[in-house]
Amino acid sequence: MSTLFDFLPIGAYRTSPSGLLLRANAALVRMLGYACEQDLLVATNEQGIRWYVEPGRRSAFRTQIERDGYVVDFVSQIWLQTLASAIWVRENAHAIRDANAVVQFYEGTMEDITASHLAQQALLQSEERWKLALDATGDGVWDWHIQDGKEYYSRRYKEMYGYSQDKIWQESDAYTDLVHPDDKVQLLRDQEAYFNQQTPTYSNEHRVRCADGSWKWVLSRGMLISRDAQGRPLRMIGTHTDISDRKNAEALIWKQAHFDALTGLPNRRMLRLRLDDAIARCQHSGARLAIVFIDLDHFKEVNDTLGHESGDALLVQAAQRIQDCLGENDTVARMGGDEFTLILTQVQGPESLTAPLQALLAQLAQVFHLGQEQVFVSASLGVALYPDNAAHVEALFKHADQALYVAKGAGRNRYSFFTPELQEAAQTRARLASDLRVALQKQQFAVVYQPIVHLASARIHKAEALLRWHHPQRGLVSPAQFIPIAESTGFIMDIGEWVFQQAAHQVAQWRAAYGADFQISVNKSPVQFHRPEKSTATWSEQLQSMHLPGSCIAVEITEGLLLDINQGVSHHLSALQRGGIALSLDDFGTGYSSLTYLQKFDIDYIKIDQSFVRNLQPGSTDLALCRAIILMAHELGMQVIAEGVETAEQRDLLRKIGCDYGQGYLFARPMAAGAFEALMAQQ
Ligand code: C2E
Ligand code: MG
Ligand code: MG
Repeated sequence: MSTLFDFLPIGAYRTSPSGLLLRANAALVRMLGYACEQDLLVATNEQGIRWYVEPGRRSAFRTQIERDGYVVDFVSQIWLQTLASAIWVRENAHAIRDANAVVQFYEGTMEDITASHLAQQALLQSEERWKLALDATGDGVWDWHIQDGKEYYSRRYKEMYGYSQDKIWQESDAYTDLVHPDDKVQLLRDQEAYFNQQTPTYSNEHRVRCADGSWKWVLSRGMLISRDAQGRPLRMIGTHTDISDRKNAEALIWKQAHFDALTGLPNRRMLRLRLDDAIARCQHSGARLAIVFIDLDHFKEVNDTLGHESGDALLVQAAQRIQDCLGENDTVARMGGDEFTLILTQVQGPESLTAPLQALLAQLAQVFHLGQEQVFVSASLGVALYPDNAAHVEALFKHADQALYVAKGAGRNRYSFFTPELQEAAQTRARLASDLRVALQKQQFAVVYQPIVHLASARIHKAEALLRWHHPQRGLVSPAQFIPIAESTGFIMDIGEWVFQQAAHQVAQWRAAYGADFQISVNKSPVQFHRPEKSTATWSEQLQSMHLPGSCIAVEITEGLLLDINQGVSHHLSALQRGGIALSLDDFGTGYSSLTYLQKFDIDYIKIDQSFVRNLQPGSTDLALCRAIILMAHELGMQVIAEGVETAEQRDLLRKIGCDYGQGYLFARPMAAGAFEALMAQQ
């Protein structure tokens, strides 16, 4: 044989057709642990050494080479007899034939591949362990051959989505089809950012369509394991973790944080998000939008009289009605209590809102069925427009609130638009409110007295105590302006108490001077009845301690108080009456003018509002009305005082139809105590 055979760096041999070893080169002799070729031949052919660790390998080798005439990459384990160990070898062999194709002998090579074989084995084992570990986490594994467009999925992966196991390779485009349409863009973005090395790792959360058509949230993470020569990604391996539970919990929390549990409507926070969104769109398109604050009128009464369950039912129905009135792109949110807010989009201008707002009011004014009960409420609406009234959300809200305040003040069941004058008025109110806080302390208040004249005798038996505020900068501020502020801030409690005490001291003096039947009337705000009384003694107790009879004071109340009556108010009224204090119904005719409650509450005086007195003429409707009121009052044992008497004609007409008392500029304006005393001195 050639020298190539002898000097080949890997083992080489020749055998007879029957398997007798004829030649072995130096590399093979060395590999198998012998000193010379002869020793190896003797050991193999005469001592019958068994080389293959698994005896079956020898017959497998022979069968193959006899059948095919060659063997390729035949890997097996071989005993090293002299070293008492084993190595892994790879054999390649073929038959050498003569001209008649009869096998002369076989030639082959044998290569020690122990090192690489063991390394590969170790790799396989570690891969197996890795797969086991992944399976244990419940994650699915994907293996993406990017440039071939093929993707391999683990068993667990396919189980996760309910796909059959027989699909091993898939087009990677097919996977993209399984991703939720809303999540695709972000997924591709995240992939690209990772491929371009803008992000160190790839991870993305998206929804995958399962075999049954449902969606599953997964966290996909992966890493590139190879790139081609141009640096383009070749292969990427990663996992899918099922995060549906976490996502569902997150969605639930989000819902609870952004929606009202009772009505299912968006809440304040959600409204804010939608409004920011809507405003951004308006900025883009130049369109307008309207914010409408809704407050249900008399909701509190329903809650108080029928209970919270009925109140809740009412809110749910009201929410539904509001929703039914809205367009597709409009939003209604519940802000808490009986307050709702609308975002109306595609608004042309204030005029275009008239019809929808009217419709909304009409809907809410319809009867509500709450179990057996039927209730009527109505709503007050305050409207502000973007961008007309304000450029920012906060200001917009404030303006809608100011408009709502006006709608309520104007008698409820109506809407009102924000105007710049409203803003000014609101600012003035805010300033007055802060100034009111210190007015009592700084002695800016004074009480003036307006005589009440007995019409038949033209004598002064009574006076009304009226409050005056001398504001250090604004001068005299009208009670019509500051009393409502004092009511809404609660200052009225202290102020009202102070007025009463002034009047009580005054009446003590004047009873002594002008007779024991002299009476001063004091206005008492509904708020003073609704708020629990402060530590001060009741008015009757205070009069008692001054040794004054209750009858020297009359308390002027309004019709509204009697309409809005509850147990607390009832007790309060009875306590006044038990103390002998007279009750006078102020501004009669401007409210509901219901006669039933006049009797029920044992009213002593009715004060006909000046709006009726102003237009008194012979033959006028107002004269007929006044006559009817006086008749009715006398019938019920009450006396009548006409307010705002400015002319002698009014006085004469009133006297003629039997009115008991008159009060007005004709007789005297409200005046300080000193001036009042001077007037009495003339009498
Ligand atoms: P009111 O109780 O109806 O008082 C009568 C109002 O009519 C007073 O206005 C009085 O100055 C005015 N007046 C009297 N005669 C005439 C007349 O001939 N022509 C016209 N045009 N007006 C006349 P004033 O003092 O500005 O008080 C306004 C309202 O403020 C009162 O209406 C009352 O509701 C409230 N008010 C005044 N002082 C107090 C108070 O101490 N406590 C409470 N809670 N409210 C008060
Ligand atoms: Mg009054
Ligand atoms: Mg009045």
